[in-house]
Amino acid sequence: MSSGVPPGPLTIVAPSGPSARSSIAKSRYRVPRIATKGPLTRCLLQACRETTSKRLYWSTTRFMFMRIASPGAQIVTTFDVHAHCVPRALLLDLRDGKSLGATASWRGDKCWFAIGSRAPKALPAGIDDVEKRLESMDRAGVDVQLLSTWMGVSACEFPADIAPTFARVFNEALAALVAEHPDRFLALANLPMRDPHAAAEELRYCVAELGMVGAEIATRPAGRDLDDPAFAPLWSMAEDLDCFLLVHPLHSLAGRAVERHFLGNLVGNPAETTIAIGHLMFGGVVERHRRLRLCFVHGGGFAPYQVGRWDHAYRNDVRGAAANLTTPPSEWLRTMYFDTVVHSSAALTHLVAAVGGSQIVLGSDYPFEMGDPAPVEFIRNAGDVGSAGLDRIVDENARRLLGPGVRRLRRDDGLDSRPGANSRREGRQRHGRL
Ligand SMILES: [Zn+2]
Repeated sequence: MSSGVPPGPLTIVAPSGPSARSSIAKSRYRVPRIATKGPLTRCLLQACRETTSKRLYWSTTRFMFMRIASPGAQIVTTFDVHAHCVPRALLLDLRDGKSLGATASWRGDKCWFAIGSRAPKALPAGIDDVEKRLESMDRAGVDVQLLSTWMGVSACEFPADIAPTFARVFNEALAALVAEHPDRFLALANLPMRDPHAAAEELRYCVAELGMVGAEIATRPAGRDLDDPAFAPLWSMAEDLDCFLLVHPLHSLAGRAVERHFLGNLVGNPAETTIAIGHLMFGGVVERHRRLRLCFVHGGGFAPYQVGRWDHAYRNDVRGAAANLTTPPSEWLRTMYFDTVVHSSAALTHLVAAVGGSQIVLGSDYPFEMGDPAPVEFIRNAGDVGSAGLDRIVDENARRLLGPGVRRLRRDDGLDSRPGANSRREGRQRHGRL
């Protein structure tokens, strides 16, 4: 089993839940995570494993069961905040000629998606297959995925007159998919970013009406940097809705010769994210919108590694770099969230040191080949970070990022009732400190 959960009498937790699949995922993680919460339960678990006394075995397992069943039990849910999805229902509509400014067609088992008359792009395998997705989540030990569009199907790629309609149809299809598995999925909206007012309104609709938990936005939507004042209505709407925004690269380093050697992804994507963080920070967006919750994929690109350089420019106001800032960039970085898709234990360790263990959330970048198919294992094996912060990264931090959105999840494991969940207050305090 890839989870690395110790074998033995842990099967005392009877599988329960709406489906066998989710039950398996829960029972696999409940006991060991709970068992590490304190020295007493750790000792009991050890005794449970090693004892040859039937009486001791049953009394210990009964105690463990009561602890799990008690309302105060700390049950860990593993959230994956960076997972892409294109609803198959939408693709079938496009294949059948629905007029949304795009087409979808299948050649063999591959689906090709084209906007207008542009060259079709192949969708990554599995991006529209719910069964494969659930199997992959179970294999990886992921309980809940936050579904966001593939950026190639982002509404900001559409002409301004079609984008709002496309975004609405996409979002309703995604919400319908989530409604079929309300214990395994949450959704992030696809926004028509060419028109920031329309994007703000779509975000409101998706969160307030469709039950989404935020939106995924491009690092440079429709050729506009994120510190463009035109985006202010969207930032204000996200603050008012108390939802979060996942910032994702698109058309990375356009105009640079990065097509060869896959550099558009390998260098371009992290560079693009770095530039986006720079604009949001040095452009003063984070100062003007202090309640914004932002999450950056691929570990924040190069920003956590280069933030010392940014602080130097801030402290010395080098060439006016600090004009829009009253707080050092490194402090701002510690209010943002970053996923774990860095493929290196050393990089993850540095990320934690740079931004704080409270700001890291699990990501997989499913189903892409540059993603991490075993993100729980990756964190668990990342030295001190894994041993000290696994529950925090997979669960607590994600709940804080989600804010009230976590209540959208429908699980039978007490997810919503845990003290400290939905800690909007904590987020406010953090921002208030700055
Ligand atoms: Zn991605």
